[in-house]
Amino acid sequence: MLAYRSRTDARDSGGCGVPQNGEINEKFGVYKSLCCGAEIVIRKGATFPECPNHRSLATIWEPVDFEMMQTPEIMKKAKSEPAA
Ligand SMILES: [Zn+2]
Repeated sequence: MLAYRSRTDARDSGGCGVPQNGEINEKFGVYKSLCCGAEIVIRKGATFPECPNHRSLATIWEPVDFEMMQTPEIMKKAKSEPAA
């Protein structure tokens, strides 16, 4: 049995885990950067930005449970999208 360890192209496939800057967001929500905990609200189809504090690094954005933090400010942004 051989265990292959070629993970150099892990970035390409995506879809396995947390999004990084430059990737397209697939789900509206709140995300937090792993490097320093900066939080962003990002809508579907938008590109994940770099961390505002660490622009030279690849930023990993971890989804924050939306229901756990019903901040009025965030709810306002969520409602700002035109609804039919
Ligand atoms: Zn950061």
